[in-house]
Amino acid sequence: MTEPIKTADVTIIGGGVIGLAIARALAQRGARDVLIVERSSLGAEASSAAAGMLAPQAEADSAGDFFQLCCQSRDLYPAFAQSLYEETGIDIELETSGTLYLAFTEEDERELEQRYQWQTRAGLEVEKLSAEAARLHEPCISDGVRAALRFPFDTQVENRRLISALATANEALGVNVWTGVSVDSLKLNRNRVTGIETSRGFVACEKVVIAGGAWTSQVINEALPNPRIEPVRGQMVSFEATPQIARHVIYSPRGYIVPRRDGRLLAGSTTEHAGFDKRVTAAGVQSIVASALEITPAIAALPLASTWAGLRPRAADGLPVLGPCAEIAGAFYATGHYRNGILLTPITAELLANVIVDEEVSPPLQIFSPDRFQLVSSR
Ligand SMILES: Cc1cc2nc3c(=O)[nH]c(=O)nc-3n(C[C@H](O)[C@H](O)[C@H](O)COP(=O)(O)OP(=O)(O)OC[C@H]3O[C@@H](n4cnc5c(N)ncnc54)[C@H](O)[C@@H]3O)c2cc1C
Repeated sequence: MTEPIKTADVTIIGGGVIGLAIARALAQRGARDVLIVERSSLGAEASSAAAGMLAPQAEADSAGDFFQLCCQSRDLYPAFAQSLYEETGIDIELETSGTLYLAFTEEDERELEQRYQWQTRAGLEVEKLSAEAARLHEPCISDGVRAALRFPFDTQVENRRLISALATANEALGVNVWTGVSVDSLKLNRNRVTGIETSRGFVACEKVVIAGGAWTSQVINEALPNPRIEPVRGQMVSFEATPQIARHVIYSPRGYIVPRRDGRLLAGSTTEHAGFDKRVTAAGVQSIVASALEITPAIAALPLASTWAGLRPRAADGLPVLGPCAEIAGAFYATGHYRNGILLTPITAELLANVIVDEEVSPPLQIFSPDRFQLVSSR
């Protein structure tokens, strides 16, 4: 057997928001020798590409386990943001102005009405607004608006500041971080994890968290359940908006805009199956700009600042994959967060740290278990 170049108690594959937040939660619970192995730089992939919306209600058509998980995580954010600020001095800009959802057509209105009905019946906070009332909240919205919903508790966070805060917190907690190092494979002995093979050499450890985002399925081997994570490209456009033209995150059924404190106005996004290609395309930018202009014609006068794209990690059933697997002791999954990884960061960190440190398998870990997928070898 190869000599290890390092030993660790827990190794985390991937330094996106998910891997970073789990490392912090583990270190806070007293886990020693936590190592993050990141192929690129921290947060370089989907986590920095995201729009940072914490908006479970705005897009949900029904209640259920996933919706509940999203709402629980959203509700953890104020304390999560506060503790990160106390640990690092970094404000992750958790906005509390709420989210507006606009209807422009009869069909949009029907969709909003259904959402309003089920959410009110479920006792959730949602306001129905006429176009005039919506305009009082956001004077910039287009004359074409017919009606709107306001979700006062759906908010946003500056995800790039979240990455910095988590990285700084981990540094203070003594978490080891390797960047520019890739994990080639998990090493197993019978049904136990023994370590990971990396581009730097073998790391011996008995617990590994797989948080590789869209690349997850490339690192798991034939003895492990395979959630068949695929990359789903999302393109983004950013405008310069000083002074800022909106206060809320504003959605329509076709797109959204997100005002940031630094004067950027983000607009998104696309949902594309383009493999691992992260390029921005003319058609992508065209559709994003068209949706943003539908929301507010004020966009037309704004200078375009930048464009980018990221890869959302989507499991075969579109749901997150969280917790240990029955087959292999020491292998933990934290992946498949698809469109909601920023939103689900606090709850994922808690659930994973609880099961790794205290062996607590709470109900969400049963619902979103990797064991719902087949082993790679039995496909
Ligand atoms: C355009 C866009 C908009 C979005 N908007 C929102 C939003 O508004 N709200 C929301 O909640 N979510 C949003 N998301 C989704 C969110 O960004 C993701 O769900 C989340 O970032 C996933 O985090 P992660 O840490 O799992 O993945 P990533 O951030 O992709 O991190 C995975 C990391 O693992 C590393 N890695 C992979 N394989 C290896 C390996 N073999 N060895 C070493 N390192 C490896 C990668 O380099 C990467 O840094 C959006 C995504 C996109 C693309």
